[in-house]
Amino acid sequence: MPSAPFRLPPLAYASLPPAIDDETLHLHHGRHHAAYVEKLNAAVAERPSLSGLSLAALLARPRLHASVRNNAGQHHAHSCYWKSMVPGGSDPTPALAAAIVRDFGSMEGLKAKLADVSMAHFGTGWAWLVKAGNGRLAVGTTADGDTPLMPDAAIRGVPLLASDLWEHAWYLKYRNEKARYLEAFWTLIDWRSVAGRLAAC
Ligand code: MN
Repeated sequence: MPSAPFRLPPLAYASLPPAIDDETLHLHHGRHHAAYVEKLNAAVAERPSLSGLSLAALLARPRLHASVRNNAGQHHAHSCYWKSMVPGGSDPTPALAAAIVRDFGSMEGLKAKLADVSMAHFGTGWAWLVKAGNGRLAVGTTADGDTPLMPDAAIRGVPLLASDLWEHAWYLKYRNEKARYLEAFWTLIDWRSVAGRLAAC
């Protein structure tokens, strides 16, 4: 991972129809994510002890100042989120499909678990599929801008899939209907990309 100044990663697609409308996608990436990157760079620039650290190294440090923690976490989580989607979605590799059956019973089992933890999460945050330290796949949520790379995150592991639970991810199109956004997000998941991160672990 590169060190500061961090840069907004370009999107690999121009749109994600019809699940995510263009206005939401481009406000989310070009304004929200861009602002987190800008604030992260400003916060790191004020702290010489953090200069030269990669994003992963920053996230791994305990007791970060909130301005660094929140913006580094949001930069990392959003970078994972964009990579978690592709127009129309994709199918899992046989190895990933087998791991999902092993750890969740079926794809439907994983879908239900992801929806359950996402709906139960109160306030801002993220839902994740991770490869846990024991090698198994696990699903959970983190608050605000926390990511599974933080030592005190509510779920730890290698992030394979990130689902944004902040209202800015869906409110323009879905308003208060979070469950409909989650259903739409499921149709966009780039399981090939998820499998790539699984293989790299
Ligand atoms: Mn977001």
